[in-house]
Amino acid sequence: MIVNELITGYLASLAHELPPELETLKIRARAGQVPIIRDDMLEFIRFLLMKEKPKTILEIGTAVGFSALFMHSVLPQARITTVEKVEMRLREARKNLEGSGIELIEGDAEEVLAKLEGSYDMIFLDAAKGQYGKFLPDCKRLLSPGGVMLTDNVLLEGTIAGSRFAVERRDRTIHERMRNYLRELTHTEGYVTVIIPVGDGAALTYKEL
Ligand code: SAM
Repeated sequence: MIVNELITGYLASLAHELPPELETLKIRARAGQVPIIRDDMLEFIRFLLMKEKPKTILEIGTAVGFSALFMHSVLPQARITTVEKVEMRLREARKNLEGSGIELIEGDAEEVLAKLEGSYDMIFLDAAKGQYGKFLPDCKRLLSPGGVMLTDNVLLEGTIAGSRFAVERRDRTIHERMRNYLRELTHTEGYVTVIIPVGDGAALTYKEL
């Protein structure tokens, strides 16, 4: 947790209620250890969607479809495409997304993104943290000028701020890759990025017109 519990709890008391079917899905997903977005991130995304009104949204990392269905509930008119590769998650995502109009693309995002054409007004990157750098060139290509990309979990529970030697050996590669990813995002001409301590840290990137 990068924001203390007291503040997170207070902010939760101001949050909107979810539609009942999404509340049920959220509880079920969390009980089943499915890593879905945090409540404060939901509010952030709600704001972004209402403000930006993207017509097309690309999500990388469906899990069981919770965040895609949430975005659909906020902005039903948006065309949402979501990508997931793990069969165990896909089994539930297929059921949950059925009839929603959300397009589920099954496969490894690296391969899927390379084949995608067109452009998306919003990209929500919420997949394996160590792979964000690999997805970045295609995300930049696919993001509409004037569009926004939201990358979740960039502060790695706050450990990103410390030395890579302060984290467990098995997490050092992710730490290094995430730092490289954030450095690239914040230093690429034609893009403006702000990093916000919401959820587990979000990078919000705007592609200049
Ligand atoms: N966005 C979801 C939500 O909030 O409801 C949660 C997504 S979860 C944090 C990350 C998901 O990304 C996992 O289900 C994982 O299987 C998937 N994933 C990780 N690497 C991927 C890749 N290379 N291609 C496609 N999906 C990937």
